[in-house]
Amino acid sequence: MSCNCTKEFTDKMIEHVTQQLGVPAKAEYQNETLVVTKELGLVHRHFVSFKITADKPGYRKGKDMPFVIKFCPFCGEKFED
Ligand SMILES: [Zn+2]
Repeated sequence: MSCNCTKEFTDKMIEHVTQQLGVPAKAEYQNETLVVTKELGLVHRHFVSFKITADKPGYRKGKDMPFVIKFCPFCGEKFED
């Protein structure tokens, strides 16, 4: 990703929860994954996820269905493929 929002917001979250809890804390951003590009490179991308439930095998307890978004959810920057 070309912007640095994930690191900046993760650092802010660490600072916030450390102050709130009064002990050193860690924070890990959970909505980022590596995606293979058309040129077979690897890039970091954000994703959103839905929990799908249905009366079918594999879906009765719910199944996560993520999809990659092509922009930064923090600053709105669009990412190229
Ligand atoms: Zn950003």
